[in-house]
Amino acid sequence: MATRGIHHITAVAGDPKQNYEFYTQVLGLRSVKKTVNFDDPSVYHLYYGNEHGDPGTILTFFPWEHLQDGKPDVGQVVAISFSVPTGSKNFWLNHLQNQNIDIEAPFSRFGKEVIGLQDPNGLHLEIVFDPKANTVDGWDGGPIPNEHTIRGFHGATLAERNYTKTGQLLEEHLGFNKTNQLDNRHLYETEADFGSVIEIIDQFDLNGRDGKGTVHHIAFRAENEDEQFDICQQLEYKGYYLTEVKDRQYFKSVYFHEPGGILFEIATDPPGFTTDEDPEELGTALKLPPWLETHRHNIERELPELTS
Ligand code: ZN
Repeated sequence: MATRGIHHITAVAGDPKQNYEFYTQVLGLRSVKKTVNFDDPSVYHLYYGNEHGDPGTILTFFPWEHLQDGKPDVGQVVAISFSVPTGSKNFWLNHLQNQNIDIEAPFSRFGKEVIGLQDPNGLHLEIVFDPKANTVDGWDGGPIPNEHTIRGFHGATLAERNYTKTGQLLEEHLGFNKTNQLDNRHLYETEADFGSVIEIIDQFDLNGRDGKGTVHHIAFRAENEDEQFDICQQLEYKGYYLTEVKDRQYFKSVYFHEPGGILFEIATDPPGFTTDEDPEELGTALKLPPWLETHRHNIERELPELTS
C-alpha cells in the first residue's frame, strides 16, 4: 500500500536570508531546493528537508517581506513538529540555548517528549523526541551531528472550531487513523516514517490572522498521478471543490479547502527534487522551471543574497 502522510508544508516568512540561516544553521535542515514562487517569480520559494528531500520532510517558505505579521488562528496549521531521536534531548536543549533561542520547558504529549520554540517570524515549531526517528538515518552534511539531526516532520497541529469533519476527511481520504484524544486535542496517525501525525485542537477563537509566521497550506502524499486522481475523484464525489492539477516541477499538485477552511493539497511523490539537480548538489543553485528560464537574468537581479 502507498505510504500516506504529510508530503510538505508551506509557510510564509519575512526576510529570506534570516529564514535560510535559521532553518539550515539553527535547525540544521538541508536546503533541498532554491527556486521562486512560480506565480510570483520576484519572490523566492525555499525548500528545506532531509538529505534526499524525501516527502514527509519538506518545509517550504515564501518570504513575502511586505506582508503583515501573522498570528495563529482557527482554520490554520498552528504548529509544525519535527522528529528527532529519543536520546537527543540534551543535545537540542544545549544547542538551542547556545543559539539564543527561547524555548518552552520540555513537556510530554501522547507519550513523547516535546520542546516548543518559534522561528524568526513567530511560527510555532516543536521538536518531538520520537522512537521512530531512532530507526531513520541522519545527515552528515549540516551543522548538527548526524545522530541528533532532524529526520523529517513528526507532524502538524490544526486549530479547528470542530474537529469532526476534518477528522473524517483525514480518515476517509488521506490514510490517517484516529489513535488518541486528550481533552480538546485529537490525534491522527499513519504508518509513515516521517510526517505521520496530525493533531487537531478544537478551539473556538484565537483572534489571529494570516501573514508572516503562519502556514499557507499543508500537502498530503499521493504515490503517483493515478493515486492522486483517485483521491481527487473521491473528494469531488464528496462535494469538495478542487483546483486543476498544477505542475510544481518537483511534484504535481491539486488544492482544496478542508471543512475548517485550511488549504489542503494532494501532492505526488514523484518526480522529486533530483529531477533537475544531482543528489549531492541539492539546494545549491537557483533552479527555475523551463517556462521561467528565459527570464533568469531579471529574476536573479531581483532576488536578495541568502548567505553573506
Ligand atoms: Zn504545496
